[in-house]
Amino acid sequence: MKEFDFIRHYLHTQADGNIILGIGDDAAIIRPKMGWDLCASSDMLVADRHFFADVAPSDLAYKSLAVNLSDMAAMGATPRWVMLSVALPELNETWLNEFCASWFQTCQDFQVSLIGGDTTKGKDIILNVNIWGEVPQGLGLRRSAAQVGDDIWVSGQIGLAAAALKHHLQEICLPPALYAVCNQALLRPQPRVALGQGLLHIAHAAQDISDGLLQDLDHILCASQKGAVLQLEHIPTLPELKQHLNKQQWQECVLAGGDDYELLFTASPKQRTIIEQIAQQTQTPVNRIGSIVPQADGIRIMQKDHTEYRPNKKGFDHFGTH
Ligand code: ADP
Ligand code: MG
Repeated sequence: MKEFDFIRHYLHTQADGNIILGIGDDAAIIRPKMGWDLCASSDMLVADRHFFADVAPSDLAYKSLAVNLSDMAAMGATPRWVMLSVALPELNETWLNEFCASWFQTCQDFQVSLIGGDTTKGKDIILNVNIWGEVPQGLGLRRSAAQVGDDIWVSGQIGLAAAALKHHLQEICLPPALYAVCNQALLRPQPRVALGQGLLHIAHAAQDISDGLLQDLDHILCASQKGAVLQLEHIPTLPELKQHLNKQQWQECVLAGGDDYELLFTASPKQRTIIEQIAQQTQTPVNRIGSIVPQADGIRIMQKDHTEYRPNKKGFDHFGTH
């Protein structure tokens, strides 16, 4: 198959009222809504770095879109338009059929339209997705808006994807049923788009967890020039996973794991009731895991017995002043 057969036969733009010109010209034209800001993001997935080269094409298509949708969720934006640029070793029809079926299904599920991209031959699979969303003018959720006294919230359960990855890498061994649940979290993260939009006006700072809870919390803290106290036991996780792993393994998965694509956000304690309501309406579990403190305090991680937990993993060194 040739590049243009792929473009013509597999790719199409799902019309929406704001797309003036979709796939097929030198560029797409979109007309943003008056009174809304455009929110743009890009995420690249590289074989053997972000996914195993033999991953099912349907899972790869889903995840490449989901991680971008998650960026929109973290801004409180409504995702609208995506571009997909691919480097592929070959244009294999079976692979492309599976990939595109899953890609367009996910586009439909989240109501986003593919408006263009690029296709090129490459030694390894590389996918780059650009996404644009809309957010009411001035309301986009930023990392820099955390305030002292804010609660720190997190959606969903943390550490599952990291556990699946560690299992793949033979660093830990999960029983089959537990592995299946964790692997699902790794392959099919749920972008928290509805929750993100619900948090407009409510949350102060927000971001999605892609690089590990501590690392990503640190981004909020640096941008906001604040510190944090975390309650280790309040971090939501899969109980079976916590039971199965030893303390050190579990802490590594939840604190430094990554690939969770859950939302991490801060809000005034006055908003607790409304946040619980938004969580219910959007069917997204949320938990409070700590609070924002002045910057000089760094990140402190408290355990059930009120002693402080000091991560000994090298990567954690810069997360505290202690
Ligand atoms: P150009 O040579 O101007 O870059 P191309 O021939 O590469 O244009 O692409 C033709 C059309 O197909 C463009 O509208 C482009 O956005 C679209 N397109 C190419 N590859 C992809 C892809 N992987 N996903 C979505 N659209 C694509
Ligand atoms: Mg091109």
